[in-house]
Order: sequence, then C-alpha cells, then structure tokens
Amino acid sequence: MPSSSTVGIFGGGQLGRMLAQAAPALGVQCRAIDPSPIAPVADVAEHIVGQYEDSASLRAFVEGLTCATTEFENISSKALREVAAYVPVYPPISAIEASQDRVVEKETFVRLGIPTPEFAPIDSVADLERCRSLLSPRAIIKTRRLGYDGKGQRVVSGIEEASRAVQELGGSGLILESFVNFSRELSIIACRGQRDETKFYLVTENLHRGGILRKSIAPAPNLPDELEATAQTYIAKLLDHFSYVGVLALELFEVNGQLMANEMAPRVHNTGHWTIEGAETSQFENHLRAILGMSLGSTKPRAPSIMLNLLTAIPDLSSVADRPGFALHDYRKASAPLRKVGHVTLCDLDVRRLRENSSVIESLLVERIPEPRDK
Ligand code: AMP
Repeated sequence: MPSSSTVGIFGGGQLGRMLAQAAPALGVQCRAIDPSPIAPVADVAEHIVGQYEDSASLRAFVEGLTCATTEFENISSKALREVAAYVPVYPPISAIEASQDRVVEKETFVRLGIPTPEFAPIDSVADLERCRSLLSPRAIIKTRRLGYDGKGQRVVSGIEEASRAVQELGGSGLILESFVNFSRELSIIACRGQRDETKFYLVTENLHRGGILRKSIAPAPNLPDELEATAQTYIAKLLDHFSYVGVLALELFEVNGQLMANEMAPRVHNTGHWTIEGAETSQFENHLRAILGMSLGSTKPRAPSIMLNLLTAIPDLSSVADRPGFALHDYRKASAPLRKVGHVTLCDLDVRRLRENSSVIESLLVERIPEPRDK
C-alpha cells in the first residue's frame, strides 16, 4: 500500500466524518463527496461539494484515489459504477444494491438460510388479497426502497387498514412483512478483509423509539453463547455470498430464543459507534483497513459499553463529562427535531456504574418524540 493512500467516501455525514477521523492513525487520508457545503465531514477531510451523479464532480472525486467506499447504502448505482471504472469500490456493488431493496435483501436472507419475517412484495391494493394470512393479527408495510429511521412504514391490522397504508405509501414498490413480537433488537457487525480474514464484534442490544435508534448496549446483556454464534454464522454467510470487503452490519430480532434477520447495512453502522472506545479497533478503522487491503485489527472489547444517540441538539453534559469512560462525539450538525447530532459512549468495566451513569445521561438528553409508537 503506498503511504499516500486516499480513500474516497460517498457521503459526508457523521459516518463519513468518523471514517475520516480514523484515517490518520493508518497514515491515510479521506476525500468525501457530498452535495452539502456544511456536511459534517467538511472539517476533517477534503470535501468535494457536488451531486453524486454529476460527472465533473465525480471526476474531481476520483482523481488519485486508492479506492472508494460509501457511508450510505442509497447511493445511486450510476455513481458507483462511474467511479468503479477508475478505482476499486468496496463493499461490492452487488451487496450495496441488494441492501437498497428490502425484497431483494430478504430474498437473499432466504436463499442463504437466514430466518427472516415472512414477507411479500406489494404493488397494488389487490396484491394484499393474496397475503391475507400475513395481515392478522398485525403486519408491517414498508417502502421497498429509501426507508430509514422508521420512515415509510405503517403497522397495520386487517385488510382495510392495510389498503389505506398501501395507498398512503404510494400504491406500489412496497413490502408487507409479518409483525414479529420480538423480545429485543440486536445487531452484529463484522468486517471481512481482502484475504478472506473475517472478524466479528460483540452482538449489541439496541433500543429504538419512534423508529430511531436511541441506545446500544455492548455486549447485549444475558445473550446465550449459542445466539452469539448463530449471529456470527448468519453474517458470515452474507460476507461469503457477496465476497464482501469492509464492514457489514446485520440487524436482528430475538424472538422465542431464536434470531431473525431484519435488515443488513453494507457500511459502518450506528450500532457500532461504541467500538471507537469500547473495542481494540473501531469499526471505522477496520473498514478502512479492509478496503485498503491491510490486515484487520482486533475486535475484542476493551470494556462493556453503552452508546446513547444525541437527537435534536447536543445537551449540556458538562456535569457528567468526568464520569468514567465518558466520550462525547459532536457531529457538528445544525439542530433539528430528531436529527442525530452526536452520540455519547460510556465504557466501563464496572457494569453497575456503567448503567447508573447511562441513566443519569439519559435524563439530560434533549429529545422530542412526536410519534406515539414506541419501539
Ligand atoms: P427497519 O427500517 O426495517 O429497520 O424498521 C425500523 C424498526 O421497525 C425496527 O428497528 C423494528 O423496531 C421495527 N420493525 C421492522 N420490521 C418489523 C417487523 N417485521 N416486525 C416488528 N417490528 C418491526
């Protein structure tokens, strides 16, 4: 690897920012492309302000890059392929494209023997007739593409409610899923290098409210060893299937002592932010290591961790900043309702103290939660 490697990143949000922050430790640099002049990446990496499909911007982006990656899965295939004509793009475009469509993603899970909620593509209200059995007692209808943080989703019960939801969500390009009464949400993050080397991070327990991740706990409390191993088996199947290079996240439901896959994210992931302080090598550094063809760093935990997302605005946390293992990450974003503007990680070998400090910080968070649906 030449000492002057430059990694190109599609997207300059907080994930791009944290990737760029991990680069100097490896002696490399990052360049991000993002249409917003005030993208969070702007003060930590070279920033091309441009549209992702604009050829002139892409030419400036690709000039002299070692390889390119993305911080978000909904990057256009056109932009990915244009850049791939010049430099390697990781993760593989096939994995990124599979994750852009919930039906293709779930079909991949099924093909690989990874359990997932029952589902059916929906392109009209009439399609609902064929899946009446999925509609009771409850089901969830989502847009196949471009949904995030619970947007573009409705929980429905029965055919009338489902028909209304289909119309509200645009009438086609939807997926119907059986509603899973999970006991909790988990995720696993893994990284695969270019020489078939795979490392797994601890399975994390994740708490969402209003469809938005609020809190991740690593390790997931009281997780049986068999489930940890099962989560590793499932994500390894995906990594092998795509000949994957980089970090992959798999969101899971725990239901009746079993795991079901909800969705995958072909990128660094919010439920892995704790790894910056809580693991020997962060997900961001390992993603860079993988895509640059370097050996991977250890994913072993340093200490139990809790990550709290800061939504809307960064609260005044000066009264708690000296608690053990406290780390504040400010993404330098303007405040806006429910926007992810930063996160806090607590990392502490004393688990009781970790939980107590987390509760104190949770009581200081600024967040408005307009949706009635608590998840
Ligand atoms: P998603 O955008 O697919 O990650 O969904 C957002 C959130 O909705 C998840 O984190 C779950 O809390 C919930 N959810 C998604 N799919 C289902 C399902 N099939 N059954 C129950 N809850 C779900």
